Amino acid sequence: MNQDLTIKQWCELCHRMAREKGFWDKERNMGEALMLIVTELAEAMEGYRHQDHENFREELADTFIRLFDLCGGLGIDIEAEIIKKSEKNKARPYKHGKIC
Ligand SMILES: [Mg+2]
Repeated sequence: MNQDLTIKQWCELCHRMAREKGFWDKERNMGEALMLIVTELAEAMEGYRHQDHENFREELADTFIRLFDLCGGLGIDIEAEIIKKSEKNKARPYKHGKIC
């Protein structure tokens, strides 16, 4: 169904769905929005700890859905940001110059 969407289209779709479900009725609290993304990662960790692979994958998906929603809501072209940051990372030294 949505298999061929670009990242930008995923952001638009996730944001539209979140709006339809009322998550943007009031101005978003940025701290809360970011922590909800972290919460999805914590849920993924729980799935991993319990070796619940299906739940692990689902919570990772939730993480992306919340991130895409946030980027869509803020009008951030996250694909362009990923490309930009990847180029920056490519230029960094092995293990980013840290010995550990
Ligand atoms: Mg979840």
